[in-house]
Amino acid sequence: MAARRALTIGLIPGDGIGKEVIPAGRRVLEALPASLGLKFDFIDLKAGWETFEQTGVALPEETVKTLESCNGGLFGAVSSPTTAVKGYSSPIVALRKRLSLYANVRPVKSVATAAKPIDMVIVRENTEDLYVKEEKTYDTPEGKVAEAIKRISQRASTNIATIAGEIALRRQKIRAAGSPSIHKGPLVTVTHKSNVLSQTDGLFRVSAREALSAEKFSSVKVEEQIVDSMVYKLFRQPEAYDVIVAPNLYGDILSDGAAALVGSLGLVPSANVGNSFAMGEPCHGSAPDIQGQGISNPIATIRSAALMLEFLDEEEAAAKIYAAVDANLEEGRLLTPDLGGNAKTEEVVADILRRL
Ligand code: ATP
Ligand code: MG
Repeated sequence: MAARRALTIGLIPGDGIGKEVIPAGRRVLEALPASLGLKFDFIDLKAGWETFEQTGVALPEETVKTLESCNGGLFGAVSSPTTAVKGYSSPIVALRKRLSLYANVRPVKSVATAAKPIDMVIVRENTEDLYVKEEKTYDTPEGKVAEAIKRISQRASTNIATIAGEIALRRQKIRAAGSPSIHKGPLVTVTHKSNVLSQTDGLFRVSAREALSAEKFSSVKVEEQIVDSMVYKLFRQPEAYDVIVAPNLYGDILSDGAAALVGSLGLVPSANVGNSFAMGEPCHGSAPDIQGQGISNPIATIRSAALMLEFLDEEEAAAKIYAAVDANLEEGRLLTPDLGGNAKTEEVVADILRRL
């Protein structure tokens, strides 16, 4: 049977356990049932610390150019030197800029049997807010003062809220395609602090509400919550959230906090999303402490591959991968050591492939 759709995926393993988990993501994509009609072409690409040591550049131009011609990408992890090294800067930060990946999407999901089941996605704006890094320090008669610019635009706020609304609708489809969830209907919670920052967070709030009032989101329930009270509720009642949309800084903090609720970093995927490209990326780093032992948890990467597929409008394929991963975790027989088991990466991958 001829494939319905061919997808070109750039693979950037990077450093450390990135080299162990990215091949796992690739094998899971290759193992998707032929009935889905997908054909994958993979292109291996370089970036990271090892690449920097070999070539003097952390992000080769060829990697960026090739990714521009791909449908999607999978990025492993890169090590960073502990002290600044001349000429080295983080390739993932550079890639987000070069490819205009303005949204960072982080799903956080527990096993269904957890005491406090969680199934939420945090959608973080990735280009502005305090991260414009316009800071200055000056002297006053009372001593030094430092200031930072917090920039919020209507355009970026509208874009990120639109992505959040689309994700909420898509999650509904994925539930329907057989990946069960604790949620009944699509819900987006807009997070801000506009009671204090009425102009910046106020603009975020108004732009987000406006974007989510579009006709195509008529089935999406929209709520809003002040970020501090959100942190409280996120820890006490995480099951209350479906999709959370936040400006850059709050999103950064909320997404790490939420990840802590489900245990290991080895479970949490993410995607960097732009208008026509999505790059899956596990939330963990290069984990040099466990590198080479064959025990790194591949699930964050496998879920990142599924998340990438969501943004390529392949909900059914994504749902199949999520269901296979959930079944592996729920059975709890083959788990890597970070989850208290003693399985090897390879055994977990084999179990997930079997379930596919
Ligand atoms: P980096 O500087 O690249 O971020 P790091 O030392 O901060 O590396 P992380 O990858 O952030 O390491 O991981 C933090 C801890 O979580 C480490 O102890 C690591 O072993 C563990 N860990 C991270 N990812 C995984 C994984 N996929 N499987 C198992 N353990 C993991
Ligand atoms: Mg780290």
